[in-house]
Amino acid sequence: MSVGKKGRILVVDDEYGIRTGVHQLLELEGYAVEEAQTGRDALAALERRPFDLVLIDYRLPDIDGLTLLQAIRSREFDVMTCMITAYANIETAISATRQGVDFFLPKPFSPEDLIGVVETLLRHKAVRQEAEELKLAHEASLLELASEKSQTHSLVENLRDAVLVVNRSGEVALVNRAMASLLDSEEGRLLRQPAEAILSGERFTPVRDALATPAPGRTLFDMEIGERQYMVSLSPFHSAKRDLLGHILTISDISEIRRLALEKSRFIRTMIHEFRSPLGAIKGILEVALDRSLGGSLDAYLPLLDRAEKRLDGMVELIGNLLSLSRIEMEKRGGASTRPIDPTPVLNEVGELYRERVQARSLTFAATVEPDLPGVCVGAEDLRIMLTNLIGNAVKYNREGGELGVRVSRAGGEARIDVSDTGLGIRAQNLPHVFDEFFREKRPETREIEGNGLGLAIVRRLVERASGRVEVSSTEGAGSTFTLFLPLGA
Ligand code: ADP
Repeated sequence: MSVGKKGRILVVDDEYGIRTGVHQLLELEGYAVEEAQTGRDALAALERRPFDLVLIDYRLPDIDGLTLLQAIRSREFDVMTCMITAYANIETAISATRQGVDFFLPKPFSPEDLIGVVETLLRHKAVRQEAEELKLAHEASLLELASEKSQTHSLVENLRDAVLVVNRSGEVALVNRAMASLLDSEEGRLLRQPAEAILSGERFTPVRDALATPAPGRTLFDMEIGERQYMVSLSPFHSAKRDLLGHILTISDISEIRRLALEKSRFIRTMIHEFRSPLGAIKGILEVALDRSLGGSLDAYLPLLDRAEKRLDGMVELIGNLLSLSRIEMEKRGGASTRPIDPTPVLNEVGELYRERVQARSLTFAATVEPDLPGVCVGAEDLRIMLTNLIGNAVKYNREGGELGVRVSRAGGEARIDVSDTGLGIRAQNLPHVFDEFFREKRPETREIEGNGLGLAIVRRLVERASGRVEVSSTEGAGSTFTLFLPLGA
């Protein structure tokens, strides 16, 4: 056995013969052994490195064995102690035990006695250490459990849904902040109260009824308090042995979900209407043609077919716009991460698209881009769609011979793109609605102008996706300016 593997032992004795004898004997047994002649030397050795066992002679030249023992205990060395003495009497033994000595070995002793004691003490130490480690592990897992418990508590506490746990006797066992505020009370005042008493008032009648006659499974129902809509859920909860412990009541504010659902269904109704009216018109035109109502010559039907084609074009455009809207909704935010681009080529491309229509209506089109403008943080395709819609409107809602201008400039830390026209303008009361889906101004002057009311809704969604915004200013009869604000690149 290699020296030291079995344990490290300090022999404290001023008698040379005994000290070295014990040293050699234990070293032969495979222990690592050090010697100390005095109490002070012993303490210094213990400070230097850890030992498993100290063998202490009762009589030392400087401090006696008992004082050394006391010093070892007070400095909390993790070491076993064995007192060795030739003057063994009962008082010394009692004093040593009081100082926490682990073993008392009277002189003279045989080598076998010593080895037996050393082995027992070291085994004892190993067992003690193992127990200590187990205790620490147990404490750590208890701590972990406590922190898990407090995490769960703070989770429930901070839930936006109102939570109330009622025990089998109908008393409040747990209540969170949202529930307390719904009940206009404080959590501390609600605990241990009868649930029926705290859920007072007419507005909670359905909840009280559900609690009074609970179903075996989950009960779900809607409830209104003032302007807001709530979803109430009541579920029983059981112990591991399936005994009923109580009920969990949650009340969730679903007003926003309701509003969005209503908005969606309104959108779908309008969309269906937008499809139905051109289809009805086209069907009517086809019936006229099929019935030969205007005679046998095709020419007589051409104006009607022309109208049918226009309505079909409108439907194709509507489908395109709806697809754009749903694509924008599906795609992740492009936003600030978009690489800065030079807006000039996009602007030229869109200008080119409308060149013929601008000429046909004798409009003057002026576009300017501030020199040395840093790049604009927006997707090129998104900018193209926004400019197409805004310039398209400025052409559509303009007057013959009117003006149309696009100006790209810097405004503070942002890029500013103004699209202005000298056309029909928008009524002040309608300005807040022009970016709503399907909104179209109903005025005698706009009746003949084709459109589906989705263009500006698309513009608003795209600009917001790029972390920008759109504004409008307009004077009825004089013209409008739509302004995009977009982040500038570095
Ligand atoms: P669309 O032009 O297809 O009707 P938009 O969403 O582009 O749909 O515009 C919504 C409404 O806003 C238009 O119907 C129109 O009443 C008004 N509008 C938009 N742009 C202008 C403009 N430049 N001048 C006057 N009115 C406009």
